[in-house]
Amino acid sequence: MKFLILITLTFFNIACALGTQKIELSKKNMSIRPGEVRWIEFPVSSQHSKLLCRGLEVKYVKRGDVGLAFVMESYFSDLSPYQCVVQEKHNKTFEFNFVVIQRDYLAEKLKVDPKRIKLAPEDEKRVMEEQQILNKIYRSSIPDFLFTEAFIQPMKSVVTSVYGTKRVYNKEKKGQHLGIDYRAAIGDEVPAANAGKVVFSGDLFYTGWTVIIDHGVDIFTVYGHLSKTTVQTGEIVKRGDLIGLSGNTGRTSGPHLHWGTKVQGQYIDGFILIEESKKHFKN
Ligand SMILES: [Zn+2]
Repeated sequence: MKFLILITLTFFNIACALGTQKIELSKKNMSIRPGEVRWIEFPVSSQHSKLLCRGLEVKYVKRGDVGLAFVMESYFSDLSPYQCVVQEKHNKTFEFNFVVIQRDYLAEKLKVDPKRIKLAPEDEKRVMEEQQILNKIYRSSIPDFLFTEAFIQPMKSVVTSVYGTKRVYNKEKKGQHLGIDYRAAIGDEVPAANAGKVVFSGDLFYTGWTVIIDHGVDIFTVYGHLSKTTVQTGEIVKRGDLIGLSGNTGRTSGPHLHWGTKVQGQYIDGFILIEESKKHFKN
């Protein structure tokens, strides 16, 4: 009887030891700059595992026992370090320690139509209504990657304004340019930067004729100032499919394409999204 108890206890100890080993915390150090994204991969054992960054849940995709996600840092980051943790029930199983490195952005001056700086009351009403429509769109992303390839630039022409440029409009209004501008004539073809679902195709006050594509898991791309859109809301597009023609609509200082990339509710640098997406998806 004593012998049996001893054996049972020994088994119990081994099981506990194995249990402890299984939930051992793995760590990885990462760095990021304001307005950027980072690709991360981590082990997950169940559908209920959560990814939490700064304590907030971030959507990820589970492929087998691996979790895949982009982590984003806001342009307006306060540069404080933080953790992204993988939480399995009550256990932390993986920890990414992020340091945030300052990034200096350029400044530029622009001249635009004064009506799009000091808004008339009816324009103000229009902007607010459009914002509500856009907020709803950005809250309803499809919970899986709709693409299997890396992101590409929507145009091969010269970049006339990079992401993050600090702007002064008409010597009075300050802002930030949270997208990338490409040189384009009126009527140049604009292809989709990746596969996804068209969730908006219409005319907006600031970005004029605009197409927005949902690529899944809170990743969106925006194509602005178009002369014409060639896709309808609800359409599924492949990478490189024609979505519209470039133009000079909305708040502009001349014809060009404005390309915005939004991840988890923040506009980030599209060039970094392209580079980070290549770490997992074929080019
Ligand atoms: Zn722009």
